[in-house]
Amino acid sequence: MSNSKYVEYTKLSPNCSERTAKISKITIHHMAVVNGTLEGVGNTFANPKNYASANYGIDSDGRVAMYVPEDKRAWTSSNSENDNMAVTIEVANSAAGPNWPVSDKAYAKLIDLCVDICQRNDIKKLIYTGDKTGNLTRHNMFSATACPGPYLQSKFPDIVEKVNARLTGKQQEATVEPVTLYRVQLGAFSKKENAERLLAQAKEVAADAFMTEYEGLYRVQVGAFKNMVNAEALAKKLKAAGYAVYITTAKGKQVISKTETIAVGDTVKLVDGAKDYDGHGLADFVYKRNYTVKQIDGDRAVITYGGVVVAAMKLSNLILVKKN
Ligand SMILES: [Zn+2]
Repeated sequence: MSNSKYVEYTKLSPNCSERTAKISKITIHHMAVVNGTLEGVGNTFANPKNYASANYGIDSDGRVAMYVPEDKRAWTSSNSENDNMAVTIEVANSAAGPNWPVSDKAYAKLIDLCVDICQRNDIKKLIYTGDKTGNLTRHNMFSATACPGPYLQSKFPDIVEKVNARLTGKQQEATVEPVTLYRVQLGAFSKKENAERLLAQAKEVAADAFMTEYEGLYRVQVGAFKNMVNAEALAKKLKAAGYAVYITTAKGKQVISKTETIAVGDTVKLVDGAKDYDGHGLADFVYKRNYTVKQIDGDRAVITYGGVVVAAMKLSNLILVKKN
């Protein structure tokens, strides 16, 4: 079971259950909050007393959050039968009721996300019948609520048309350019427990640290910035507190900071799990130590420990700990 590639923010909600049915539906909700933030909704869903959650949220800038992974049933639509089958999405409103519109960016991302959910869960076609027999459902089919609001509700036929055109390849891929975000990351782990341990420590210096999961790796992150300089500023603060910090782009690919280029003589750490320059795996303890860069040739760096050569690594797999 996978989650959406569009997720830029993750705050997992305890308000969910094991899914008892295969994913076969999508239910679209509105936040009923003007320009509600992903973080704000995440905080609401994080409170067990609220008994509420959704699999995904989309804000007015078109950013996507995950609150409940798709393999779990979110508590969104006041109907367990529906939510066991559905992936549920909360969309931020761009203005208040009675019409509760959503921004064009949020709407475009909603289409992208629906296409992605259908493709990954083998939903061949989205069907809107106006009642619960279709596989695109609304909250107000199950309870007396305005959700998803008049604006989104009027768009359901358009959503189905656009999503199905993409599913059958009649239209080009996503029209919205993904924003490059620089994420300040403390570590990436294949074992969730290890990420959780680091997260608990990190919260002592960065209260908003959180964990994300992408392609089987659990990453401890403390922020995401559109501007590299801001990411670097936070990274520096954390380095001063003794953390091995690195900056990555959207898909977890590490980027080398422009102002902090690694040079011969610098102290570095290895990106957790990185292979050596020739693609060979390294022993676990290797990732726990600091090394000195002895030689750099293009993207190849030779590292030493106590004066002894340990390995040749790709520069992009080194994390700067201290300048020489
Ligand atoms: Zn709703």
